[in-house]
Amino acid sequence: MVKQTIKIFCRVKPTKGKTGLYEVDEEESGGPKLSFFVPKDQSQIVNNTKEEYNFRFQRVFEQQTKQEEVFEHVAQPVIDNAISGYNGTIFAYGQTGSGKTFTITGGAERYTDRGIIPRTLSYLFEYYEKHPDFTYTTHVSYLEIYNENGYDLLDPKHEAAKLEDLPKVSLMEDTDQNIHLKNLSVHQAMNEEEALNLLFLGDTNRMIAETPMNQASTRSHCIFTIHLTAREPGSATIRRSKLHLVDLAGSERVGKTGVVGTLLAEAKYINLSLHYLEQVIVALSEKSRSHIPYRNSMMTSVLRDSLGGNCMTTMIATCSVEKKNVDESISTCRFAQRVALIKNDALLNEEVDPKLMVLRLKKEIVELKDQLSLATGEQPTDELSGEDADRLQQMVRGYVEDTDPDATLPVGADMRKINECFRIFKRLVLERHPGKLGGVNNGGGEEDEEPSVSEDSGLGSAPSTAGSAEVKKLKDLLQQRDNEINILVNMLKKEKKRAQDAALILEERGIPFSAGEGPLPNGPGRPPSSRSKHRNREERSRDSMSISRSLGQPDSREKETTPPYSQSTTVRLRKLGGEMSVGRQEAFEIFKRDYEHSVTVDDQKGLLKQRYAEAKQLGEKVNSSRVQINHVKSLIQQHRMARAAQGVSEDVGFSEEPDEEEQHLRQQMEDEKASYKVTFNRLRVLKTEIEHLQHLLEKARLQMQKDFELWWAEQTVNAHAPDPGPAHAPQGGSSRRHGSLTDDPTADAEPIRASHSYHGNLDAVGLGHHGDRRMSSHSDSSGSHGRVPRHREVLEDSRSAAPAIPLTGDARADADIMAFFKARQKILQQQGKR
Ligand code: ADP
Ligand code: MG
Repeated sequence: MVKQTIKIFCRVKPTKGKTGLYEVDEEESGGPKLSFFVPKDQSQIVNNTKEEYNFRFQRVFEQQTKQEEVFEHVAQPVIDNAISGYNGTIFAYGQTGSGKTFTITGGAERYTDRGIIPRTLSYLFEYYEKHPDFTYTTHVSYLEIYNENGYDLLDPKHEAAKLEDLPKVSLMEDTDQNIHLKNLSVHQAMNEEEALNLLFLGDTNRMIAETPMNQASTRSHCIFTIHLTAREPGSATIRRSKLHLVDLAGSERVGKTGVVGTLLAEAKYINLSLHYLEQVIVALSEKSRSHIPYRNSMMTSVLRDSLGGNCMTTMIATCSVEKKNVDESISTCRFAQRVALIKNDALLNEEVDPKLMVLRLKKEIVELKDQLSLATGEQPTDELSGEDADRLQQMVRGYVEDTDPDATLPVGADMRKINECFRIFKRLVLERHPGKLGGVNNGGGEEDEEPSVSEDSGLGSAPSTAGSAEVKKLKDLLQQRDNEINILVNMLKKEKKRAQDAALILEERGIPFSAGEGPLPNGPGRPPSSRSKHRNREERSRDSMSISRSLGQPDSREKETTPPYSQSTTVRLRKLGGEMSVGRQEAFEIFKRDYEHSVTVDDQKGLLKQRYAEAKQLGEKVNSSRVQINHVKSLIQQHRMARAAQGVSEDVGFSEEPDEEEQHLRQQMEDEKASYKVTFNRLRVLKTEIEHLQHLLEKARLQMQKDFELWWAEQTVNAHAPDPGPAHAPQGGSSRRHGSLTDDPTADAEPIRASHSYHGNLDAVGLGHHGDRRMSSHSDSSGSHGRVPRHREVLEDSRSAAPAIPLTGDARADADIMAFFKARQKILQQQGKR
C-alpha cells in the first residue's frame, strides 16, 4: 500500500503583458511558492483584507511552460504507476478559460499543443511495445457529467445532437459499496490509433452536444478513463488499474465581490457539483470527520476512490493572472491547498485469474502425488485411466515436438506412467519411420536373404567352383555398388542438411532463405512474440497511409475533404449543417470568408496538405526500401545456393562463413533495414500528427458551422428588428409564428425557426437542427467567454416581434435586400434616438 497525499501542481495561463500581480519563488524549501498581490486601492475590497496571498505547490508551471513538460512532470509518474497496477487520477481545476481543457485534452490549433490525454495514450502504447514480456490491454470510456446527469460520450447511439436527449449513465452500488456506472460503454483500443479515435469521437460528440444553452464545456465535468490490465504470460495474476483524466467544470463563483469581510471564503460555486466536491475535500482534510459526503453528487461518487481512497491523485490548478481573474485564481489555489492535505491509500490492484489458478493447482496436485509415491515407494497398482493415457500421449507429443534440446518430460515417479510413455514413444517411432524400423529388420533380413541370393544364383543346382567364384565376384561388385550408392545418398543428405542449416542461420539473423514474402525487418533483437504485433501495426499503418494518400489532393468542396478517421463524426457534421439551400450555402461562403478563425482553418489545411505530401514521400521511401530489402534478400539466397551447388560439384563442401560478396550483400541489407526503420518510425509519428490535425480541422469546421448558425439567426433577427411595414408581409402566415419571439419567457417554449421567415428557395433555411434550441433569457450564464454568448445577447436584445423579409434565393439580390433592410433599420434607430 502506498500512502501519499494528493499532489498539487499549478499552471499559469499565458497573459499578453506582464501583470505584476503574481510571483513564483522556486527557491522555497517546502516547494515553490506562488504569491498573488492584490493592491488595496484597486481590489474593491475593504482595506483590512490581506494584500499578499501565498501558496505552495509541488511545482508551478509558469506561463511559457510547454505541454510536453507538464506531461512529463504531472502525468508520466501517474501513468507509470497505473502500468504497475495502481489507480491514478489527474484532475484540472480552475475557472473557465484558465486552461483546463488545454492542459487535459490540448489546444485547438497546433499538434504540439496536444494535452495530457493524447500524450498518455501515445506513451502507453509505446511502453507496451518496449515491454513485450507482458501482455497489456487497454479499454477506454468517456463520461460527461452535466447537471448531475451522466452522458456517455462514446455511446455508439450518440445520434441525438442534444446532450439532454442522450441515454443517461446511472450510478449503481454493489453490496461492497463499489460504484458501477450503468450505460457507460467501455471500448477496447488495440493500438494508439484506435485509442485516439475514441478520444476524438468523444470530443466531437461533446462539441456537437454543446449549445449556448447548456454551455457544456464550461459547466460539465469530463472524465476520460483508461482501464489497464497487465499480465505476464504464464502467470495467473493480473494487475488492473484505472486512470481517470478529468476536466472539471469552471470553478468560478458568484458573490465574490461586495461580500464585505468574507472575501472569497463564502463565495458560492455556480456549479453545484463543485460545491459538493469542495464539501468532500473539506471533510477529508479534517481528520476528525468520519462521514465523507461522497454520495451528494455524481461526480464525487465517480471519483470517490480518487479522493481519499485507493488512488494516486494529482491536481493541476489552472490560473489566469489578469487583474480581473486574480481573485478566482486565489480561490483556485486555496482549494488546492486543502486538496493537498488529503491522504490516499493506493493499493496494488493485483488479482488472480481463477481459470489459470485451477490449472496451476491441478498440476501441483499431480506433482505432489508423484512425490508421495516416490517417497513411500508405494506404486499404485490400478490401471492408468484413459484420461491419464491421453494426457501422457499429449505430453510425449509436445515433448518430441519441442525444439528445445533441454526440454524435459515430467511424468513423475509412477512406473505405470513411465511404461506408458515408452509405449507411446515406440508407437511414435514406428509411425514416423516405418521404413527405418522396417529397415533395421530388413537389415537383419538382408543377411538372411543373402543365402537366398546364392540359392537363387545357384538356381537350385549344386554350386560349381567356377560358378561360385563368379557369384562371389558379382556379390562383391554388388556390395561395392551398394557402398557407392550409400556414400552418394549420405552426401546428398549432408548437403541437404547443410542447405537447411544455412537457411536456419539466415532466418535466425532475420534473413528468410526463401525469396517469398518474409516478415519485414523489425529492428534487431525483437522477440518473435512482439513481431506479429508490430507487423500488424505496420500493415495497419500502411493501410491508413494509403487512405491518407488518397486524400492528398484536398478538394475545394468542404464535404469531400472531410477526413476519413471517423465516419460517424463526418455523418454527424453533415447532419448538424442540415441540407443547405442555395441561398444559405452562399451566405455560408460569405460567412466563411469573413470568419475570424478562418485563418486558423486555412493554416491547418495548409499544414495538413504539407504533412500529406511528407507522408506520401515517406510512404514511397518505405515502399522502395521494402522492395530493395527483398531484392538483396533474394540475391543473398541465390548466392548461397550457387555456393552450395559449387561445393557439391567440386566436392569441397560448403562453408558456413559468408564469403566476401555475401558479407557485402548483408551489409547492404543491414543499411537498408536501418534506413527502413528510421523512415517507418518517422512515418508513424507523422501519421499520428496527421490524424490529430484532421481532428483539429474537423473541430474547427464544426465550430465554424455552429457559429454560422448563430450568425445566421442573428442576421435574420437583426433584419427583422425594424418596424414591420407592409413591404415585409410574410408568406404563409410565418409572421404569426414569429410572433412567438416575445419577451415573455414562457413563449420561449416555442422554438425559433428561421426557416419560417423565408420562402421559395430558402424554404429549407433555418437553424437546421438547432431549430429546436430554446432561446432563454434566464440562463445563468457564468460569463463572457467565447463568441457564443455575444451572439446570444444580440438575439435576446432583438427579440421584438418581426415579420419575415421576402428573399429571392439569389445570393446577390438577397444580400442587396438584406443591406437595404439593415440601412433602413439604422435610419429608423437614429430617428428613434432623436
Ligand atoms: P478552460 O477549459 O479552463 O475553460 P481552455 O483550456 O479552453 O480553458 O483555455 C481557454 C483558451 O486559452 C483556449 O483558447 C486555450 O487554447 C488557451 N490556453 C489555455 N491555456 C493555455 C496555455 N498554457 N498556452 C496557450 N494557450 C492556452
Ligand atoms: Mg474547458
